[in-house]
Amino acid sequence: MRIDILTLFPDMMMTYLGQSIIGRALKNGKVEIACHNIRDYTLNKQKQVDDAPYGGRRGMLMNAQPIYDCFRAVCDMTGTRPHLIYMSPAGKILTQQRIRELSEMDNIAILCGHYEGVDERVIEEIVDEEISIGDYVVTGGELPALILADGISRMCEGVLAEKSGYEEESHYGGLLEFPQYTRPEVWNGRKVPEVLLSGHHANIQKWKLEQAEKRTMERRPDMWEKYLAAKPPEPEKKKRRRRTAARPEDQADTSAPAGGSGEDSSD
Ligand code: SAH
Repeated sequence: MRIDILTLFPDMMMTYLGQSIIGRALKNGKVEIACHNIRDYTLNKQKQVDDAPYGGRRGMLMNAQPIYDCFRAVCDMTGTRPHLIYMSPAGKILTQQRIRELSEMDNIAILCGHYEGVDERVIEEIVDEEISIGDYVVTGGELPALILADGISRMCEGVLAEKSGYEEESHYGGLLEFPQYTRPEVWNGRKVPEVLLSGHHANIQKWKLEQAEKRTMERRPDMWEKYLAAKPPEPEKKKRRRRTAARPEDQADTSAPAGGSGEDSSD
């Protein structure tokens, strides 16, 4: 997987990407990320990349030409035409599902807007997809692009120690993650749930699934609905359990299938 990021602030990006899990993945060649400074592609002496928008609105808009030329340079460099994503509050909201699909591509490029955004014509000309990180506005596409690049990178082979690293986590299988605990066993008078200390693998998996389901049902009814709808048909006994679990007041009494494993909560 190679990700090319088109930005006015490449240093900002590399500071983040060079560290921790993604930094290690870059060093080990598990994923390749390159940042390109759009300003290097301006044709004017002042290296100006923006101008006032037509129609008399305040603020500045990024010009089409340097973005277009920067993307063409990326195509030349990579010897391919990467799928180009423009980070935009008007895009489709990013989901784990879309991250997973994108992580299966070989080449992706991400365009970061700044100021008031970018000239619409360059979007029409080269952008394949617009993605938003949520219904709010931040000052530039750099943080949104980092979120996307980070999310994609961690799904790539060999970046996380084990697949279960992401398969058990929130959103992958349509559930939020179960609560987690580490040492010490008692902290501030609060004990780690007994089952996690039992060493009984099947019971632990069953507890994790129950907790993930409970949390999702309580906090994200929208996800819970989808999770129930997407579950493949199950044997009669389990079906009854699902119907009960759909009612919050009954949730405490529900039990996961005997020997229920983490596989249940992932695809
Ligand atoms: N005038 C624009 C906002 C521009 S913010 C509008 O009202 O829609 C400047 C840049 O930040 C955008 O071009 C985009 O690249 C990025 N950005 C801001 N909010 C974002 C969001 N929620 N998701 C993705 N990118 C965002």
